[in-house]
Amino acid sequence: METFIRKSLKMKAHFVIEIVQTEEGWVARVERLGNRRLTCSQCRLEVKRTRGRLRQRSWKDLSLRDEPFWITYRPFRVQCPRCGLRVEKVSWAKRWARVTQALAQAVALMAKKLSCKEVAEYFRLDWKVVATIVKRVVADGLKKRKLKPLHILGVDEVSRKKGHQYLTLVYDLERGRLLWVGQDRKQETLDSFFAWLGKRRTQTVQTICLDMWAPYFASVQTHAPQATLVFDRFHVVQHLNQALDEVRRAEVRKLAGQEKVDLKKTRFILLKNPWNLTPKEHGRLSHLLKLNLPIVRAYYLKEEFQRFWDYRQEARAQAHLKQCLWWATHSRLEPIIKFAKLVKDHLPGLLAWTKLRISNGSLEGMNNKIKLVSHRSFGFRNSDHFISAIYHCCADLPLIA
Ligand SMILES: [Zn+2]
Repeated sequence: METFIRKSLKMKAHFVIEIVQTEEGWVARVERLGNRRLTCSQCRLEVKRTRGRLRQRSWKDLSLRDEPFWITYRPFRVQCPRCGLRVEKVSWAKRWARVTQALAQAVALMAKKLSCKEVAEYFRLDWKVVATIVKRVVADGLKKRKLKPLHILGVDEVSRKKGHQYLTLVYDLERGRLLWVGQDRKQETLDSFFAWLGKRRTQTVQTICLDMWAPYFASVQTHAPQATLVFDRFHVVQHLNQALDEVRRAEVRKLAGQEKVDLKKTRFILLKNPWNLTPKEHGRLSHLLKLNLPIVRAYYLKEEFQRFWDYRQEARAQAHLKQCLWWATHSRLEPIIKFAKLVKDHLPGLLAWTKLRISNGSLEGMNNKIKLVSHRSFGFRNSDHFISAIYHCCADLPLIA
């Protein structure tokens, strides 16, 4: 048993004296093996000279058949010729860790699938210990990650706490990988992404897909002026749907009686693509269209606008948009006019779609995963934990060796 523990924890200069049963579970008491050289925790040099010891420390290890298992040891102070007086590095745990590397690895692996709370319960740890392990693993993984040259980036945002808190996510769209997560969705947020990426690696970026969101736009123009912008299809449609919904709500407020009843709960019918409607919904839609309300005009405009995505020739797409925009600006519907203005201001980035056919849509799976992580880490007050959880679950970082 002692030998097994010694080997599995990769001890070279240490050995297990005995394993005893205590109230807290099984404890393996570890000692230095003879006069073996110890490792300097600063520079990893093997050092012979020691100077006293620290108090006894214990590290939690993987449970043994459901019984908690601990390692106890009194680390030496070593006199390193390079660094001076340092504490020795033990083979079974990271520097300030309270758990062994083996346990940390198991925790990290499970935290990819479960919430911190669930992992903590399973391993009988404090959830803060789990969160710290995840944070460290992520920091290590980010250091060890090797980035391939980046050509196509996608910028997206995720909201938390009912839209009171935002995170900005940057993806490598070519490889469908999460690259970076940052707090908020300001210009400075994306600025700090480019600062992290560095000038040299920013230069290889050819295309960036993003929302028509002015702060992002400004940051990209400053840091990656060479990149072609493509406005994300999903976000454009979202803006349009919001406009449509505003028109509908304004109308519900105005109407009375039967017409009001007709218009209520039509939101999803109006926002859905016609080919996705059930026969019953189809019936309600045609009834609605017969009423010839402003919402109907807005609806037809939405349908017309959506044809834009099929065009492959820029000139034709532009002609189509021009027509849509003319109708929109003359629709006398405030939200629709606002949308038209938004499109007008971002025309080149929209037309880029016809040639590049790039959107963040390919990341939908990733988005769902992030929503799941967000849901799981709901208890986290501070978004640091949330950010490391996103990295941990979605960024494909190398896990500690
Ligand atoms: Zn040293």
